[in-house]
Amino acid sequence: MPIANFLVREARTVDRDNQAPQAPTGTHDVMPPESARWEALLALFASLAQRYGFSMVHTPIFEDIKVFHRGIGEASEVVGKEMYEFTDRGGRHLALRPEGTASIVRAYIQHRPSLPFKAWYATPSFRYERPQAGRFRQHHQVGVEALGTDDPDLDVEVITLAKRFFDALGLKAIDLTINSMGDAACRPAYVAALEAFLADHAGDLCDEHQKSYAANPLRVLDCKKPACKAVMVDAPLLSASLCEACREHFERVETGLGEAGIVATRNERLVRGFDYYTRTTFEFAAEALEGAQNAVGGGGRYDGLVEAMGGPATPGIGFGIGIERVLLACDAEGVFDVVPTPPLAFVVDVTGGAEARRLVEALRGLGVGAERSYDDRSMKAQFKAADRSGARFALLVGPEELATNSVTVRDLREDAEQRTIGEDELLRIVRETGTI
Ligand SMILES: [Zn+2]
Ligand SMILES: [Zn+2]
Repeated sequence: MPIANFLVREARTVDRDNQAPQAPTGTHDVMPPESARWEALLALFASLAQRYGFSMVHTPIFEDIKVFHRGIGEASEVVGKEMYEFTDRGGRHLALRPEGTASIVRAYIQHRPSLPFKAWYATPSFRYERPQAGRFRQHHQVGVEALGTDDPDLDVEVITLAKRFFDALGLKAIDLTINSMGDAACRPAYVAALEAFLADHAGDLCDEHQKSYAANPLRVLDCKKPACKAVMVDAPLLSASLCEACREHFERVETGLGEAGIVATRNERLVRGFDYYTRTTFEFAAEALEGAQNAVGGGGRYDGLVEAMGGPATPGIGFGIGIERVLLACDAEGVFDVVPTPPLAFVVDVTGGAEARRLVEALRGLGVGAERSYDDRSMKAQFKAADRSGARFALLVGPEELATNSVTVRDLREDAEQRTIGEDELLRIVRETGTI
């Protein structure tokens, strides 16, 4: 067979078998310039969290599956149907993290840092679910967890931090709803009353809950199906069953939020999807987003979780905020439009590139952004690239500049006479002023 034919056939085979791969369904790449918003959002959250006394914690994105079974509860939808679980080559049963809290609690139990332990995180989370707007199989969250006290002031602080984050993004129409889910003293009686009520009305519930209401009666409270909603109008209310301690705790949270100037509406039907939540529970919804997908963040207290996961009894509270959803809300409100920071200077070197290499490094060493072209391109092509980079100044190094150890400064954004100055002088100006 002639070699040429062989190559052609080979190339076709490669083509067919090797179609350019795409990101998996339900995942997405964050590319520039959009990634500049992510950077800015993360920096904003990090700085706020730090101000509120939280330290960053990194945990693995996969854990022994028991961490999530115990930490989220087997009756929850996430554990039941939506977790990415796998067995590794060593036969360990693992799962990708579906949410942030369980891993932080596992790390707390393992390392036992001093209390209160206030952690913040930014992490991908994984759920095998039908992709929808702002909801992905890999989505991203920022959040905090605070362990070690059930002082309602901490609830106020945590909710306030989340609110200040939305404020800092420029979001105006974020509604905060709160509720108390009671505790081990008062909730079991309520759940029993609710279950009895649901048993009486089982035939009228939505298809799913006709069968499954008993596994987690609280979940029926926030079911969005019309059938369940109609039944729940007459359901017993949790607020009426709260014990004195829970009632007082909730009042203090409401008072604290009020004093911080934060408007919160009580929603009796607000229950969290996870079994471990106790007392304070809260949710932030963006008015600018569609009703069913307008939750941008939420959280609550989980005083029984650490113990349930095998640690010492330790109260805690936290929240998670979905980055994709929040950015959708920002788009809808037309706020937080971040553009990438362009370099201050773009070195145009027509003497071979060695000067560009030296000069950009010197500038970067002084703390300013500097860029250049590669491959010894023409002056015209380099100026084009300089313009495209968004740089304020082009620094031209030609044979004359090279001979006199100087650069010609051209302002690319404003009308100004171009000038040639000594390189030492240029670097002195940058060092002293941060610009040129
Ligand atoms: Zn239902
Ligand atoms: Zn109680």
